[in-house]
Amino acid sequence: MIRGILCAGLAALGDVIGGLLVLTGPERSRRALNALVGFGAGFMLAVALVEMMPKAIGLPGGLLAIVLGYLLVHLTQHTLTPHFHFGEETHGEAMVSRGVGVYALVGLLPHSFFDGVAISSGFLASNRLGLLIFIAILLHKVPTGVSLASVVLASGNDRRTAYGAVLGIAAETILGALLTPIIPPLAEYGLALAAGVTLYVAASNLVPEAQHERSWLTQGSLFVGALVFYVVDILMRGFE
Ligand SMILES: [Zn+2]
Ligand SMILES: [Zn+2]
Repeated sequence: MIRGILCAGLAALGDVIGGLLVLTGPERSRRALNALVGFGAGFMLAVALVEMMPKAIGLPGGLLAIVLGYLLVHLTQHTLTPHFHFGEETHGEAMVSRGVGVYALVGLLPHSFFDGVAISSGFLASNRLGLLIFIAILLHKVPTGVSLASVVLASGNDRRTAYGAVLGIAAETILGALLTPIIPPLAEYGLALAAGVTLYVAASNLVPEAQHERSWLTQGSLFVGALVFYVVDILMRGFE
């Protein structure tokens, strides 16, 4: 239990680091960020499909929980949110008011909560599963922090609001990890819901972002991410 919370805290730090990259203004390499998005997408997709799904399907109603998790992210991050995507915010025409940034923050809260639920429920099943999910979640946290801080700033909010926003989603991830072991429905169905959330983030948030840049680095990183998952998975066999 404590391992899940510690790892969720470490992953949440990634949100803050991503936010700091935008807010402290060092030169950010677009290529490196795109490669990280592609790599994270490949790794997360593999973890969701190979590790999380089979465990979730074993539960009564597990498949339904996967679909609900998937739809929850679409509803909160896109249906109810006017403008949010991974990658830095470059669509000036969509930044019509400060509310666009605030909605992006609110839309990311449920997703960020389930990032923590995913890690915590992974550790409830086994150390191996917990660690694999932790790596998967960690890989998309820096891009999440970058995306959120940049949409909050681009929509006209001040830097304090942007700092608050990345701290908010980081806190939500830790909260998800804290609550999972003590709320019975979350302890039971958290992994299945998080499988749907992770599938959405990988296949419907990160992959579309990795489709834009036609470079070998960005395109190749998706396959490398899935391959690295496979190698890590083999190395961790026997480690429970
Ligand atoms: Zn945009
Ligand atoms: Zn996330």
